Amino acid sequence: MLHAGVIAVQGDVSEHARAIERAAAAHGQEATVHEIRHAGIVPDCDVLLMPGGESTTISRALQREGIAPEVKAHVAADKPVLATCAGLIVSARDAKDDRVETLGLVDVTVDRNAFGRQVDSFEAPIDVDGLDEPFPAVFIRAPLIDDVGDGVEVLAEWEDRPVAVRDGPVIGTSFHPELTDDVRLHRLAFFEETPAALSE
Ligand code: GLN
Repeated sequence: MLHAGVIAVQGDVSEHARAIERAAAAHGQEATVHEIRHAGIVPDCDVLLMPGGESTTISRALQREGIAPEVKAHVAADKPVLATCAGLIVSARDAKDDRVETLGLVDVTVDRNAFGRQVDSFEAPIDVDGLDEPFPAVFIRAPLIDDVGDGVEVLAEWEDRPVAVRDGPVIGTSFHPELTDDVRLHRLAFFEETPAALSE
Protein backbone atom coordinates (compact mmCIF):
# COMPACT_ATOMS: atom_id res chain seq x y z
CA MET A 1 0.00 0.00 0.00
CA LEU A 2 1.35 3.39 -1.04
CA HIS A 3 0.64 6.27 1.36
CA ALA A 4 0.24 9.41 -0.74
CA GLY A 5 -0.07 12.80 0.92
CA VAL A 6 -1.78 15.64 -0.93
CA ILE A 7 -1.13 19.10 0.49
CA ALA A 8 -4.76 20.12 0.98
CA VAL A 9 -4.70 23.59 2.52
CA GLN A 10 -5.93 25.04 -0.79
CA GLY A 11 -5.94 24.22 -4.51
CA ASP A 12 -6.90 21.35 -6.81
CA VAL A 13 -6.59 18.61 -4.20
CA SER A 14 -9.19 16.11 -5.41
CA GLU A 15 -7.70 16.08 -8.93
CA HIS A 16 -4.30 15.06 -7.55
CA ALA A 17 -5.92 12.47 -5.28
CA ARG A 18 -7.65 10.89 -8.27
CA ALA A 19 -4.49 11.05 -10.39
CA ILE A 20 -2.28 9.30 -7.81
CA GLU A 21 -4.91 6.59 -7.30
CA ARG A 22 -5.04 5.99 -11.05
CA ALA A 23 -1.25 6.15 -11.45
CA ALA A 24 -0.80 3.61 -8.65
CA ALA A 25 -3.43 1.32 -10.19
CA ALA A 26 -1.66 1.52 -13.57
CA HIS A 27 1.49 0.43 -11.72
CA GLY A 28 -0.37 -2.48 -10.08
CA GLN A 29 -0.42 -0.83 -6.65
CA GLU A 30 -3.07 0.62 -4.40
CA ALA A 31 -2.74 4.12 -2.96
CA THR A 32 -4.27 5.52 0.21
CA VAL A 33 -4.61 9.29 -0.06
CA HIS A 34 -4.04 11.47 3.01
CA GLU A 35 -5.19 15.10 2.76
CA ILE A 36 -2.70 17.26 4.61
CA ARG A 37 -4.04 20.28 6.45
CA HIS A 38 -2.00 20.07 9.64
CA ALA A 39 1.32 18.75 10.97
CA GLY A 40 1.85 15.10 11.85
CA ILE A 41 0.72 13.39 8.63
CA VAL A 42 3.59 13.99 6.21
CA PRO A 43 6.03 11.76 8.16
CA ASP A 44 3.77 8.77 7.42
CA CYS A 45 3.60 9.47 3.67
CA ASP A 46 5.69 7.70 1.04
CA VAL A 47 5.07 10.36 -1.63
CA LEU A 48 3.75 13.92 -1.62
CA LEU A 49 1.74 15.98 -4.10
CA MET A 50 1.77 19.77 -4.04
CA PRO A 51 -1.25 21.01 -6.00
CA GLY A 52 -1.90 24.06 -8.09
CA GLY A 53 -3.88 26.89 -6.55
CA GLU A 54 -2.71 30.13 -4.98
CA SER A 55 0.90 30.02 -3.86
CA THR A 56 0.60 32.85 -1.31
CA THR A 57 -2.23 31.03 0.51
CA ILE A 58 -0.56 27.63 0.32
CA SER A 59 2.85 28.83 1.50
CA ARG A 60 1.39 30.77 4.45
CA ALA A 61 -0.67 27.80 5.59
CA LEU A 62 2.31 25.43 5.32
CA GLN A 63 4.32 27.71 7.61
CA ARG A 64 1.46 28.44 10.02
CA GLU A 65 0.52 24.79 10.46
CA GLY A 66 4.10 23.55 10.86
CA ILE A 67 3.85 21.43 7.70
CA ALA A 68 6.77 23.18 5.95
CA PRO A 69 9.58 21.55 7.99
CA GLU A 70 7.95 18.14 7.53
CA VAL A 71 7.91 18.57 3.74
CA LYS A 72 11.59 19.59 3.81
CA ALA A 73 12.41 16.48 5.88
CA HIS A 74 10.48 14.30 3.39
CA VAL A 75 12.68 15.60 0.55
CA ALA A 76 15.86 15.35 2.66
CA ALA A 77 14.96 11.66 3.11
CA ASP A 78 14.89 11.38 -0.71
CA LYS A 79 11.17 10.60 -0.90
CA PRO A 80 9.34 11.69 -4.09
CA VAL A 81 7.29 14.85 -4.55
CA LEU A 82 5.28 16.09 -7.54
CA ALA A 83 4.74 19.86 -7.36
CA THR A 84 2.50 21.46 -9.94
CA CYS A 85 2.10 25.16 -10.76
CA ALA A 86 1.47 26.92 -7.40
CA GLY A 87 3.03 23.82 -5.82
CA LEU A 88 6.18 24.46 -7.87
CA ILE A 89 6.17 28.14 -6.87
CA VAL A 90 6.03 27.16 -3.18
CA SER A 91 8.78 24.54 -3.71
CA ALA A 92 11.17 26.86 -5.54
CA ARG A 93 14.33 28.47 -4.18
CA ASP A 94 12.81 31.91 -4.76
CA ALA A 95 9.53 33.19 -6.16
CA LYS A 96 10.70 36.81 -6.16
CA ASP A 97 7.58 37.76 -4.19
CA ASP A 98 7.69 38.49 -0.44
CA ARG A 99 4.22 37.08 0.04
CA VAL A 100 5.41 33.59 -0.86
CA GLU A 101 7.67 31.85 1.64
CA THR A 102 9.32 29.26 -0.58
CA LEU A 103 10.57 25.90 0.68
CA GLY A 104 13.73 25.66 -1.45
CA LEU A 105 13.04 22.07 -2.51
CA VAL A 106 13.77 22.76 -6.18
CA ASP A 107 16.81 24.86 -7.07
CA VAL A 108 15.03 27.20 -9.49
CA THR A 109 13.63 30.70 -9.32
CA VAL A 110 10.17 31.32 -10.70
CA ASP A 111 8.24 34.28 -11.97
CA ARG A 112 4.60 34.02 -10.91
CA ASN A 113 1.95 34.48 -13.60
CA ALA A 114 4.65 35.09 -16.20
CA PHE A 115 2.68 33.38 -18.97
CA GLY A 116 -0.24 35.76 -18.46
CA ARG A 117 -3.48 36.01 -16.53
CA GLN A 118 -6.32 33.49 -16.29
CA VAL A 119 -7.70 34.46 -19.69
CA ASP A 120 -4.37 33.55 -21.23
CA SER A 121 -4.47 29.99 -19.98
CA PHE A 122 -3.79 27.46 -22.69
CA GLU A 123 -3.08 23.83 -23.49
CA ALA A 124 -0.14 22.59 -25.55
CA PRO A 125 1.34 19.19 -26.35
CA ILE A 126 4.89 19.14 -25.00
CA ASP A 127 7.73 16.63 -25.18
CA VAL A 128 8.83 15.41 -21.76
CA ASP A 129 12.07 13.49 -21.12
CA GLY A 130 11.08 9.98 -20.12
CA LEU A 131 7.81 9.95 -22.09
CA ASP A 132 7.57 8.60 -25.65
CA GLU A 133 4.54 10.65 -26.69
CA PRO A 134 3.85 14.38 -26.09
CA PHE A 135 2.04 15.29 -22.88
CA PRO A 136 -1.12 17.48 -23.02
CA ALA A 137 0.06 20.32 -20.77
CA VAL A 138 -2.59 22.62 -19.29
CA PHE A 139 -1.18 26.02 -18.27
CA ILE A 140 -3.26 28.24 -15.97
CA ARG A 141 -1.61 31.49 -14.87
CA ALA A 142 1.56 29.45 -14.97
CA PRO A 143 4.90 30.41 -13.45
CA LEU A 144 7.96 30.89 -15.63
CA ILE A 145 11.04 29.00 -14.48
CA ASP A 146 13.84 31.46 -15.06
CA ASP A 147 16.98 30.41 -13.21
CA VAL A 148 17.81 26.72 -13.13
CA GLY A 149 20.47 25.52 -10.66
CA ASP A 150 23.33 23.23 -11.73
CA GLY A 151 21.86 20.07 -10.20
CA VAL A 152 18.46 20.53 -11.83
CA GLU A 153 17.44 18.53 -14.89
CA VAL A 154 15.10 20.22 -17.36
CA LEU A 155 12.54 17.59 -18.42
CA ALA A 156 10.44 19.73 -20.75
CA GLU A 157 10.42 23.10 -22.46
CA TRP A 158 7.74 25.15 -24.11
CA GLU A 159 8.95 27.82 -26.54
CA ASP A 160 12.50 27.43 -25.19
CA ARG A 161 11.42 27.95 -21.58
CA PRO A 162 11.72 25.18 -18.98
CA VAL A 163 8.26 24.00 -17.87
CA ALA A 164 9.13 20.72 -16.12
CA VAL A 165 12.21 20.08 -13.98
CA ARG A 166 13.61 17.42 -11.70
CA ASP A 167 15.73 18.19 -8.66
CA GLY A 168 16.58 14.95 -6.86
CA PRO A 169 13.32 13.37 -5.66
CA VAL A 170 11.19 16.36 -6.70
CA ILE A 171 9.53 16.90 -10.08
CA GLY A 172 8.07 20.36 -10.58
CA THR A 173 5.86 21.45 -13.48
CA SER A 174 4.58 24.89 -14.54
CA PHE A 175 1.51 23.13 -15.89
CA HIS A 176 -1.20 20.90 -14.40
CA PRO A 177 -0.88 17.16 -15.17
CA GLU A 178 -3.60 16.53 -12.56
CA LEU A 179 -6.17 18.35 -14.73
CA THR A 180 -5.93 15.83 -17.56
CA ASP A 181 -6.72 12.11 -17.70
CA ASP A 182 -3.06 11.47 -18.52
CA VAL A 183 -1.29 10.16 -15.41
CA ARG A 184 2.10 9.51 -17.01
CA LEU A 185 3.78 12.35 -15.12
CA HIS A 186 2.48 11.01 -11.81
CA ARG A 187 3.77 7.58 -12.82
CA LEU A 188 7.14 9.06 -13.79
CA ALA A 189 7.42 11.05 -10.55
CA PHE A 190 6.45 8.27 -8.18
CA PHE A 191 7.20 4.97 -9.84
CA GLU A 192 10.10 5.93 -12.10
CA GLU A 193 8.57 3.94 -14.92
CA THR A 194 10.39 3.62 -18.22
CA PRO A 195 9.10 5.22 -21.45
CA ALA A 196 8.18 1.76 -22.74
CA ALA A 197 6.05 0.96 -19.68
CA LEU A 198 4.41 4.37 -19.83
CA SER A 199 3.33 4.01 -23.45
CA GLU A 200 1.50 0.73 -22.83
N1 GLN B 1 -0.48 31.96 -10.46
C1 GLN B 1 -0.78 31.18 -9.31
C2 GLN B 1 0.10 31.56 -8.14
O1 GLN B 1 0.93 32.37 -8.27
C3 GLN B 1 -0.60 29.71 -9.63
C4 GLN B 1 -1.67 29.29 -10.58
C5 GLN B 1 -1.94 27.84 -10.58
O2 GLN B 1 -1.56 27.05 -9.70
N2 GLN B 1 -2.69 27.45 -11.59
O3 GLN B 1 -0.07 31.05 -7.07
